[in-house]
Amino acid sequence: MSYAIAIDGPAGAGKSTIAKLIAKKKNYIYVDTGAMYRAMALYFLEEGIKADEAEKISAACPDVDVTIRYENGEQIVLLNGRNVNGLIRTEAVGDMASASSVNKDVREKLVELQRALAAKENVVMDGRDIGTCVLPDADVKIYLTASSKVRAQRRYDELTAKGESCDFDKIEKDIIERDERDMNREISPLRQASDATLVDSSDMTIEEVADAIIALCK
Ligand code: C5P
Repeated sequence: MSYAIAIDGPAGAGKSTIAKLIAKKKNYIYVDTGAMYRAMALYFLEEGIKADEAEKISAACPDVDVTIRYENGEQIVLLNGRNVNGLIRTEAVGDMASASSVNKDVREKLVELQRALAAKENVVMDGRDIGTCVLPDADVKIYLTASSKVRAQRRYDELTAKGESCDFDKIEKDIIERDERDMNREISPLRQASDATLVDSSDMTIEEVADAIIALCK
């Protein structure tokens, strides 16, 4: 039986950094489900589909093939066979991912892929609905959060480090908007599973959070 650690939470809570570190320490596979929603969003953007065109998004789903491969422990997302890792980390793709992830056909496709990965490997999987929907029987479930100020600051530092100019207040506003949408959508909204442990990373280091989660693994 494979082991699964599910980490859900809002944007910028540190899910991917923490999940990657835990995966490394435990020699598990890290599954970044947000990257899968981003890959589908990239496809819709490239096809000229707009965020509010729900019918076009559904109609395009059968044409999209998202697969995952691992190279030196890094997750590579293939969109119709093309490595799109370098293209999915933009704000435009993130916004489209947040908008198109409300779509039932998009979710069905990706949840199936996520469950198949967890069935054959020990995984640390992060996202919004892992503990509540994708892996309801996960061995450890974490709801990782931090204040919107801390999350916006992390995003601001990340963008500034990349040399991108940005506005702190706009980043915080965008983060709050994206969370609202993720928490209030009809299908698989972002919420803490009843059996998940709440971890607030606002005043914790990455190592402290990772160790706290590892301590919960039996
Ligand atoms: O985590 P990340 O910012 O890469 O995710 C992009 C978007 O994909 C999120 O804002 C969310 O709307 C969506 N998503 C989701 N379910 C997941 C992972 C991501 O709906 N399991």
